[in-house]
Amino acid sequence: TDSIVIIGGGHAGANLVALLRQEGFTGDVVLLGDESHQPYHRPPLSKKFMSSGVRQDLRPDDFYDEMKIDLRLDTVVTEIAPERREVITESGERIGYGSLVIATGSRPRALPLPGADADGALTLRTLDDARALQTAVERGGRLVIIGGGYIGLEVAAEVRKHGLPVTVLEREDRVLARVAGREFSEALTAHHRQLGTQILTGVDVTRILVGDVVGGGDHVGGGDRVSGVELADGQQIPCDAILIGIGAIPNDELAVACGIACDGGIIVDDDGRTSLPDVYAIGDVTRRPVGGDTMRFESIPSALEQAKHVAAQLCRSDKPGAEVPWFWSDQFDLKLKIAGLVHHGVTTVVRGDPGAGKFGIFHLDRANRVVAVETANAPALFMAGKRFIASGAEMDPARLGDADADIRSCAV
Ligand code: FAD
Repeated sequence: TDSIVIIGGGHAGANLVALLRQEGFTGDVVLLGDESHQPYHRPPLSKKFMSSGVRQDLRPDDFYDEMKIDLRLDTVVTEIAPERREVITESGERIGYGSLVIATGSRPRALPLPGADADGALTLRTLDDARALQTAVERGGRLVIIGGGYIGLEVAAEVRKHGLPVTVLEREDRVLARVAGREFSEALTAHHRQLGTQILTGVDVTRILVGDVVGGGDHVGGGDRVSGVELADGQQIPCDAILIGIGAIPNDELAVACGIACDGGIIVDDDGRTSLPDVYAIGDVTRRPVGGDTMRFESIPSALEQAKHVAAQLCRSDKPGAEVPWFWSDQFDLKLKIAGLVHHGVTTVVRGDPGAGKFGIFHLDRANRVVAVETANAPALFMAGKRFIASGAEMDPARLGDADADIRSCAV
C-alpha cells in the first residue's frame, strides 16, 4: 500500500513526517508514539527547561491535522510482522504499512545496583523524567549525578545556577572521556569547579544508600528515599536525589525480534535502509556507517540528516549530500559546539584561551587534516572547523594555533 508508518514520535520521527509532506508524499502517514505528549524538543530538558518548566513542541498544535499526519500518542508498538507488513500495538491493533520507519530512540542505561530505583533516584530522557527531576531539585539539598557525560554536566550547571550543591561522580579519569578530547574535558571541569560543581573523577559508586543510613550532613532524606551513595573506597556522600546519567542504550528490541540485523543498535546504510526491504531506521536507535566502521550518533543533527535521507528515498527525490556530524551543549555561560570525531585525531591545536571560556580545540590526523573541532563561545571557529573537516585540507598547525592569524588562511 501507499502508506508509511513510523514508530517513535521523537526528533527523528516527527521531523521525518514533516519532510515527507514537504517532498510531496501524498499517501497515508501514521506516526506512532508511546509518550503522552505531542512531539517536543528533548535537548532543553537538561538545560532551559529546568528553570522554565515549559515544554517546547517540535511543531505547532494544528500541524499534524493540517499535514494529514495520523499522529497517535500513548501508542506502544509491541511487534513488527514484516511478512504481513504490519505493526502490532499493545492494544492488539494491527496497522499495515507499505514502508516502515523505526525511530524508537534510546533509553537511559540502568545502573545495576540495588537502590537504583528507589525514590529520588532519577534518570533523564523524557518530559516526564524532566518534571520529576525538577521537583526533586525544588525540594532542595544535594544532587549527586552519577556519570560525567553531557547530560550530567548540563544538569549540574542548571542546579548550580539555582545555588544548590551538586556532585558529579565519574568513573573514568576525566569527564566526557568517551566523546571529548582531554583538553576540552579539562577546560569544562575547571569551569564547573570554579562555579561550584563538585566533580570527582576515577570514582566508582558501589552502593546507593536508601533511608536514614547516612548520619549528619544537610540532607533531607529518610524513609524509602535515597540518602546518599557509597564509593568503592568506602567514602559516603549524603544527598537528597541522584541523577543517573551513564549513557543510553538503543530501543532496538522490536527490530531484533523480527530479524532485522542489529549490533547494539539497528544497522543501517547511508540511506537509512535496514536489512529488511522497505524497512528503514533513523535516529538514536541506529548504527550508521562511518569510514568502514559503524557508530551510534546520539544527536539531533544526525537524526535530522538521516530523516532527510529516508524522506528522499521514500519520495524518490534527490539524494542529499553527506554532512559533518556535530552537536551542541550549553553549560553555564558556555555555548559548546563540537563537530567531527575526536578519536580520529592524533594531535591537537588549541586556539584561544580555555581559561577565558572562549576557545577552539582542533584535532588533526597524521596528515594535519582537521578531523574534529571542539569550541566554546566561538561560533566562527566552529564553522571554520566544520568546513576544514569537510574539505580535508592540510593545515598549518602553527597558524591554526595563533589566535591572531586569520582562520581562513590556516590551510596550507
Ligand atoms: P527520541 O527523541 O528519543 O524519540 C524516540 C521516541 O520513540 C520516544 O518518544 C520513545 O518514547 C518512542 N518509542 C520508543 N519505543 C517505542 C515503541 N515501541 N512504540 C512507540 N513509541 C516508541 N542532542 C543534541 O544534538 N544536542 C543536545 O544538546 C542534546 N541534549 C540532550 C539532552 C537530553 C536530556 C537528552 C535526553 C538528549 C539530548 N540530545 C541532544 C540527544 C537528542 O535528544 C537525541 O539524539 C534525539 O532525541 C534522537 O531522536 P530520536 O527520534 O532518535 O529519539
